[in-house]
Amino acid sequence: MTDAPFLDRAFAAICDTGGRLCGSPSERAATALLKSLGQEATGVAARAEPFEYGGWRPLACALTGPDGAPLPAHPLVRSAPGEVEAEVIDLGRGEPEAFAAHAGEIAGRIVLVRHELMFNPGTIHRRLKYRAAVEAGAVGFLIAGPVAGGCVAGSSGRAPQEAGIPAFGISPEAAQALARRAAGRPRARLSLTTEESPATAENLFFDLPGRTDARVILTAHIDGHDLGESAIDNASGLAAALEVARRLTADRPAGGWRRGLTLAFFNAEEWALTGSALHVEAMSAAERARVSLVANLDSPVGGMGPDGGLAALTCGMAGIEPMLLAAAEAEGLALRLHRPFQANSDHANFARAGIPAFRLVAGFGQHEAPARLVLTPRDRRDLVDPAELTRAAGLAERIVRHALDAPAEDAAAWRAAAPAPAPAL
Ligand SMILES: [Zn+2]
Repeated sequence: MTDAPFLDRAFAAICDTGGRLCGSPSERAATALLKSLGQEATGVAARAEPFEYGGWRPLACALTGPDGAPLPAHPLVRSAPGEVEAEVIDLGRGEPEAFAAHAGEIAGRIVLVRHELMFNPGTIHRRLKYRAAVEAGAVGFLIAGPVAGGCVAGSSGRAPQEAGIPAFGISPEAAQALARRAAGRPRARLSLTTEESPATAENLFFDLPGRTDARVILTAHIDGHDLGESAIDNASGLAAALEVARRLTADRPAGGWRRGLTLAFFNAEEWALTGSALHVEAMSAAERARVSLVANLDSPVGGMGPDGGLAALTCGMAGIEPMLLAAAEAEGLALRLHRPFQANSDHANFARAGIPAFRLVAGFGQHEAPARLVLTPRDRRDLVDPAELTRAAGLAERIVRHALDAPAEDAAAWRAAAPAPAPAL
């Protein structure tokens, strides 16, 4: 396999490490692998940034349906432990209107909602539904995935010290078994034991200096979920970022570009964006001002059609949009722009700090695309078309290459933000 092109070899090797749930041996193996792949791509050694986060590990998880039969269930990351038995209230998709319409019926019951396509303008994030259930007094939370026979993973968004309620991802069949009948609402039993203690993970950085102290950050998140290989989300982004860094390094001018390049791999992204949040929080105002652009590759494959439903999520950073469109046009790709603030990946923490940042994602708004299968057991390498991975790397390379050498006045314009970014998740 060593004679395979670097991009394909890196992607396969990252998938080989498994789902990369933060804190698991799989994630630690991936972090070690990325230290060596990053060094191979850039020629410089990794700078590791260890950080503490609220570690959490499920020990035993069980869901029992109305007839006492066990149903498949997968605990959401940082789900509260506990044992509850109660009626199930099915709130369909789980939009705010459904919670409002059933406000008086939720307390003391187990809320059931549906997982939605992650990459869609109107998607309501699972963490908002979980929060709404907790606030309405629910004693348990179930979210049904899109794949027959498979559960769905994800984070509950519960903070380390928070009480919370047991929260599981389940299969569509399990949701069916828990649907309301003429005889009334079925009862279910949720049981979860966990181990929680402070844990350490690492963000990784590979720095190539520029002729000025400004820099461009090219990033992808390391960690994933343990139901599949986290291939689309986000072995694809990691491999594409490595490939872009490798190509840029290969023809880097002797004195460097105008700006430095930092290849950054953030960790605990699936845990409410913890690794990048701590990193941005620790940056001084001067350090923040020096970052011209953050290009975040998170699930840049998994779309359909010639343009793959590629989208740039700009989190209110309107100033970068013309530059992104120009790069896509030069690549012969249609790129969709989505400006509302969506805290669905690491770029959001930078944008919130006023740093020009975007996420490149595929399958945006494509309800039948493979991207709908992220967070399920189906997110494995066979879902990823190698040509799509090459296309994502090509677009990312063009954007970053441009950003590394663009004139200072262009970079100043990138910092323009849209007037009213939505509140954080
Ligand atoms: Zn992701």
